[in-house]
This record gives sequence, structure tokens and C-alpha cells, in this order.
Amino acid sequence: RSGRSAALRARMEERLLGARFRYLNQQLYTGSSRDAAQLFRADPAAFHLYHRGFEQQVRRWPERPVQRIVRYLRRRPASLVVADFGCGDCTLAASVRNKVHCFDLVPLSPRVTVCDMAEVPLADESVDVAVFCLALMGTNLQEILGEANRVLKLGGTLMVAEVASRFEDTGAFMKAMAQLGFRTVSKDLSSSYFYLLEFAKTGPARPGRAPGLRLRPCLYKRR
Ligand code: SAH
Repeated sequence: RSGRSAALRARMEERLLGARFRYLNQQLYTGSSRDAAQLFRADPAAFHLYHRGFEQQVRRWPERPVQRIVRYLRRRPASLVVADFGCGDCTLAASVRNKVHCFDLVPLSPRVTVCDMAEVPLADESVDVAVFCLALMGTNLQEILGEANRVLKLGGTLMVAEVASRFEDTGAFMKAMAQLGFRTVSKDLSSSYFYLLEFAKTGPARPGRAPGLRLRPCLYKRR
């Protein structure tokens, strides 16, 4: 009997965690990056819970997007300096020889510099590769990608891995990216889970709003 009630209790806890993860996740995708920063600053425990939920989701996928970015970087010179926006547990930094600046809201690893990705402590044109791996969460996408543009050298690479179902209109998204100073180098839309997009910085963003720059929130279903 005690075995059965322990199992029941574990199942209920799992459910509760799932519900809290989905709620936090929804907040991250429907608010600005600043709201996210404030949320986790006020409640670091929420961040750890979010990450457990995130891990559980991604474990179901056939491949972790970050592994694709690792493979990409290993094919390029290790001398390239990388900025990982929303680095999570720093899998990327731990898997390559490059110098990687890791940014996130709460440090899951001592490598992390805690900051809002819309405002990273890097000099203008100081990095060769900027990475957003499942990390374009805030509603202020234009500001966030503007920050990546600022820190990237001319001709530098922007890698974006994002959940496929978030894209409403990939063509409009690419056009908006051009306005933000990013030329499309390659796009891999073959995975049904995530898209992998590679851009090169052509120059600073052109002024004005880029209306095509829209991604749906990534809301996980209850399981
Ligand atoms: N890139 C990692 C983690 C992806 S989860 C991987 O692929 O495994 C998304 C990460 O973005 C989370 O760690 C979350 O805390 C971070 N994040 C979300 N909003 C952020 C913000 N405004 N500033 C910095 N990091 C943010």
C-alpha cells in the first residue's frame, strides 16, 4: 500500500511540475526579455524548474539542436570567438575549443555571465559567431537580434536554431532578417522539430520596424 501511495504521489508531483513548467514557458514567450530577466531574478527556483521541464521536452526529440551547432563550429576554425545567447547549461561552450561567451538569466554553470540577452556586456563588432539555440523567446525579437548585430563583426555568422512550428511565414522572417542586416547563408528546414538558419552580417540594421519578424510562442502540450 505504501508503495502505491508513493507512486501516486510521484505522479502528482510530476503533473504539478509539468503545469508549472508550461506556465513559466508561456510567460517567457509572451513577455519581453526584460520581463523574463525580472521573473527569474525574483525567483531563481522558477528558473531551475523551467530548465528541468526544458530538458524533459528536448529529450524526446531525435536530436538536440545544440549538437548541430557544435558540429557546425567544429568544421570551422577554433579561433572564432562565439557568443551564446541563452546558453542554458553551456553544452555548446563545453563541446568546442572556441572561446565562447555564455549569456543567460541565471547561472546553471560557472561559465555563464548573467544578463538579459538584449544587453550583453560585449564590445561592438567583437565576435565572429552569435548563436541563438532555442533561445529567441522574448517578444522584443528585433531588439535582441539588434544586439547580436551590434556585437558581431562585419561578415560574422549568426546561427539560429528554433522550433519549426514557431515560424508563421519563413519568407517574411528572412526578409525581416535582411532588414536587420543579416543575409541568409543557408537554411535547413528538413527536421520537423527545429529549423537551423545561418546568416552573415552585412552591416548594421536598417532603421524602422521589421514587421515580418514574428515567431509564434512555443507552447507545450499537456502530456
Ligand atoms: N541554448 C540552450 C538552452 C535553450 S533554453 C540549449 O540549446 O540547450 C533557452 C534559454 O534561454 C534558457 O536557458 C533561458 O533561461 C534563456 N533565456 C531566455 N530569455 C533570456 C534573456 N532575456 N536573456 C538571457 N537568456 C535568456
